[in-house]
Amino acid sequence: MKRILFIIATLLLSVPALAQDAENGLTVLMNKHGIAYSSAQLTPTICALCGVPASPDCVAQPIGFIRTAAKSKPTMEKALIFCPDATGKFLVDKYQADWKPVYDVSTYVVTSANVLPSVTPVCFGAIFTGCPPEVHGILKYNDKYNPNPIKVETLFDAFSKAGKKCAVIAEKNCSIDLIFRGHQADFYTTKNSEESVATAKRLIQENNYDLIVCYDGNYDSTMHANGVFAEKSLEAMKDSIRYYTELVEVADQAWADKNYVSVFSPDHGAHDVKAGKGTHGSDMACDAIVNFFYRLRYNK
Ligand SMILES: [Zn+2]
Repeated sequence: MKRILFIIATLLLSVPALAQDAENGLTVLMNKHGIAYSSAQLTPTICALCGVPASPDCVAQPIGFIRTAAKSKPTMEKALIFCPDATGKFLVDKYQADWKPVYDVSTYVVTSANVLPSVTPVCFGAIFTGCPPEVHGILKYNDKYNPNPIKVETLFDAFSKAGKKCAVIAEKNCSIDLIFRGHQADFYTTKNSEESVATAKRLIQENNYDLIVCYDGNYDSTMHANGVFAEKSLEAMKDSIRYYTELVEVADQAWADKNYVSVFSPDHGAHDVKAGKGTHGSDMACDAIVNFFYRLRYNK
C-alpha cells in the first residue's frame, strides 16, 4: 500500500537552501514570512529528480528533503507541471475540503514564497529559471511584452541540453505563452484552459515529451473580475483542482511503466482590493505564499 508522506514545510526559520550573504530577490518574501522554500526551487528540484544538470544560471538549490528522499530512488523519466494562476495558499487554507483531491494525489506539499512584484510573468520567470527577477530579467508585468524577456537559461533549456523534449501549453498571449519563446520547448497555443488541459492529456498519451507544462489562467481572470471568494472564482478554483487530478489520472495510465513527477505549481495568490475585485502583486502573505504539491510516482 502506498505510503503518502505529507510534509507541510512552513518553518519559522530562515533557511540555508538559498544561502546567500545578502538578501536577494528569492529570499525577500521567504524572510518576510518565515517561509523555508522559494517557488524558484522548482527548476533545480525537477532537474535533480530527472537526472538533468541544472543550468549554471540557476541560483536556487533543489528542495533538500525531496532530493534526499529521491537519492535512493530511480531517476524520473517524465515530468508534468500544472500552473494554475493565482491559486495561492490562502485558498487551500480556507477551502481544505475542496483541496482534498490534490492532497490525495500528492507525496509532498511544499509551502513556498514567490518573488516581487508577485505578478504572473515575474513569478513564472523565477519558477522556470530558478533565478530571482533581477537575474532572469522580468522585473515588472509589462516586461512580458519585451522580445526575449528571459535573459537566462530555463528549465526547458536544461532539459534540451540533456536530450529531452519539452512542451509548453498555454492560452494565447498569456505570460507563459509569451515569455519563454526562444527557449528550447515546443509551444502549444490554445484558446482557453479547457483546450490547454485537453492538449496536455493528448501529449501525455502520445508520449513524445519528457516535460509537459500546462497553464490554467481561469482563477486569475475570474478573481480579478469578481473577487477572490466570489462564487464564479471558486468554481474556477475547483476547475483547477479537477484539471490537475484529471491530468494525474491520465499520466498514471499513460506512464504506468515510467517513473514520473508531477507538480501543482501556482505563481502567486491574491486578495480583494475592494468588494468584487481581486488583485495581487504585493508582499502580503495572501499574494506571496503558494503551496506546491509534488507527486513522485515510482512505477519501476
Ligand atoms: Zn498569475
